Amino acid sequence: MEKFKVVVTDYEFQTLEPEQEVLSSLNVDFVAAQCRTEEDVIAACKDADAIINQYAPISAKVIAQLEKCKVISRYGVGVNTVDVDAATEKGIIVANVTDYSVDEVSDHALALLLSLARKIVKLNDEVKNGVWNFNVGKPIYRLRGRTLGLVGFGRIPQALAKKAQSFGLHVIAYDPYIPAEVASRFNVQLVELNDLFRQSDYISVHAPLTKDTKGMISDEQFNLAKKELIIVNTARGPVINELALIRALQDGKISGAGLDVTECEPIPPNHPLLQMENVVITPHIAWYSEESEKELKRKTAQNVADVLSGCYPTYLVNAQVKEKVRLKEKELYV
Ligand code: NAD
Repeated sequence: MEKFKVVVTDYEFQTLEPEQEVLSSLNVDFVAAQCRTEEDVIAACKDADAIINQYAPISAKVIAQLEKCKVISRYGVGVNTVDVDAATEKGIIVANVTDYSVDEVSDHALALLLSLARKIVKLNDEVKNGVWNFNVGKPIYRLRGRTLGLVGFGRIPQALAKKAQSFGLHVIAYDPYIPAEVASRFNVQLVELNDLFRQSDYISVHAPLTKDTKGMISDEQFNLAKKELIIVNTARGPVINELALIRALQDGKISGAGLDVTECEPIPPNHPLLQMENVVITPHIAWYSEESEKELKRKTAQNVADVLSGCYPTYLVNAQVKEKVRLKEKELYV
């Protein structure tokens, strides 16, 4: 049996056993690396048959150096670490996992929103510093009847919309690609981005990071916002222009931010956002639960196993690659 080299470019997990277990039926040389730069990735993956990737850059420069890579499988939904066009051009399949953490991320976005709206972190700090006085939390507003705006209306915000509606929130969304019927099925009104900022009391960001969405939320939008606005981002940091966010918070144009993702991760020490009491930050953990982590690892490795066994993966990102690479459809194969 042909021996395949599978390289994990980088990972923050404590174990890679689920990946190895999924790949165990194939003849695989499994290499776990901790690449940070393009040069690291090139050195580790030049002769790889398959790549599993977390955050290391799989840029066009890296892809040009790959000698026989058939598949790049990314841990997670976002494939912004991979130059998908360059991979497609070279006939490399790009795969992701789209459905492992819809519950977790929508719960986490709601948790950030609730902790800011109810000032949980601030009040917890006050109590632990000996202050037992509800007045330090003022003002807090009733959620019921207020408006939540969603930027992007894919799987995660659709799940969040249902949860938010059960709190009595009116939900609107901006997503130029989602059909109106889908939004109306969720009882969600589609609006333009700037109208979303004019109308919302809370905003939760869920657009993928692409060339079009980088910095799409900036001064123009914050200048339109209500000054009580709380903004939550569990998508990708650069979708919000971070300097504009800092300015809006400092100038009181909005009232708070809950961030699971930042422009640079990990966030550098002494970053201004770390000094603000109306900002709650978590370390890109929205996706995580014990269950979702196992599911993510198994499905990411299964994408690789599928391709090395001669079929397209379940979670194919670049369908156009089929024009260059002829494999079996999985349904027909199993
Ligand atoms: P999805 O693929 O189901 O939906 C993405 C939606 O974004 C689509 O409806 C698309 O039409 C819309 N979109 C594309 N371009 C847009 C634009 N310019 N403006 C507004 N909307 C636009 O994705 P999802 O499962 O809902 O996940 C959303 C994002 O959440 C992912 O891209 C990923 O980056 C992020 N994510 C973060 C974590 C975490 O741990 N923080 C975990 C999972 C996903």
